[in-house]
Amino acid sequence: MSHKFKPESLMMTHGYKPELSEGAIKCPIFQTSTFAFKTAEEGKSFFEVAYGLREKDQDEELGLIYSRINNPNLEILENRLSLWDKADDSAVFESGMSAISTVMLEFLKPGDVILYSSPTYGGTDHFIQHFLKKIGVDYLTFHPEDSKEEIQKIIEDSGKADRLGMIYIETPANPTNTIIDIQMCRELADQYSTEETPTFLCVDNTYMGPVWSKPLEAGADLVVYSATKYIGGHSDLIAGAVLCNAELMVRVKTLRTFLGNMVSPHTAWLMLRSLETLKLRMEKQCLNAQKVAEFLNNHPKVKKVYYLGLIEEGTHAHDIYKRQYNSPGAMISFDIEGGEKAAFKFLNALKLMKLAVSLGSTESLAQHPQTMTHCGIDPEQRDRMGISEDLVRLSIGVEDAKDIIWDVEQALAAI
Ligand SMILES: *Cc1c(COP(=O)(O)O)cnc(C)c1O
Repeated sequence: MSHKFKPESLMMTHGYKPELSEGAIKCPIFQTSTFAFKTAEEGKSFFEVAYGLREKDQDEELGLIYSRINNPNLEILENRLSLWDKADDSAVFESGMSAISTVMLEFLKPGDVILYSSPTYGGTDHFIQHFLKKIGVDYLTFHPEDSKEEIQKIIEDSGKADRLGMIYIETPANPTNTIIDIQMCRELADQYSTEETPTFLCVDNTYMGPVWSKPLEAGADLVVYSATKYIGGHSDLIAGAVLCNAELMVRVKTLRTFLGNMVSPHTAWLMLRSLETLKLRMEKQCLNAQKVAEFLNNHPKVKKVYYLGLIEEGTHAHDIYKRQYNSPGAMISFDIEGGEKAAFKFLNALKLMKLAVSLGSTESLAQHPQTMTHCGIDPEQRDRMGISEDLVRLSIGVEDAKDIIWDVEQALAAI
């Protein structure tokens, strides 16, 4: 009898064989740089596969060689992580930025253009505008609310429509929670793809993944994560991940081998622990966030709440939300009455929630995007994005919902 287990049921055991580790129920940390071959013939055969000198046999697994190429913690982690996004494979990196920059370096070449949604994560934005530009990759940006026709106009007006190498999006946009239609971006990528310059669609799914959104199913070629956030989930590690089909993964992992930016055995082991509770954590975080958003939405000192669960039914945004997400998530932004002064009073008065950037962790966090995460953005552009001095961003954790609301309420009362 066969039965298809859900990812959450497989996170404790999938890909790990206790008999290879003295029967240990948990995967130990393989803190080793290199692996002994049984024979010279075996070493030769492992290298042939690792360096692409021959195809892998049907059931052959890549033998362990050297921890920059492979390591049991890394391999088991990648097998488990792939299940959530139903990807052929995943590659884990030493940071989210490392995953993102490796994908851009592999799938773009000098002369190409990258089109990306703005606002995007500050580090990503800087890498595109400063590093890629320096090596001859141009960029175009669009606003999360732009229509398909407006984006087509941006591409065509650039005069480089035939060199569009990548469409890169972050949805929902941070910190405003504006949703971008992945399917529409797929259509655009198909429209501008050429033999010489195929257009890859890459989605940063850090805000909603891997439980609440599956961009590969919606048409993305590549999904990237800051695994520092929900996947790690305890604010105690930095890591990143890329997920895609087997053909593209060969390219991602080959470049990773030569950049040497894979995750360490210890961090991979911490992530294995984190994956066991991933769904549990994310579900609790979302339940809490829905209650906090509702509370904020009815508070007189709050002007507007930006939360996926509050998108009005019958709107275009709601239609995309229903299609793309199975939950409203745990990130809430809101405009407070009284500008920076009031926002700072609120942040300084919090007793349970911590004042820090980052997101997706077990503890609730609060910050002020205009003067913190998004302070480097051109003020005019920032206004257009709706990142005003009133805006406060919350990442909701797994604490008791009533305690979080008590904290928010007393901090709002302090203004
Ligand atoms: C944090 C973050 C990144 C960068 O990830 P690091 O792990 O800090 O390198 C990229 N994208 C988004 C959306 C993020 O929140």
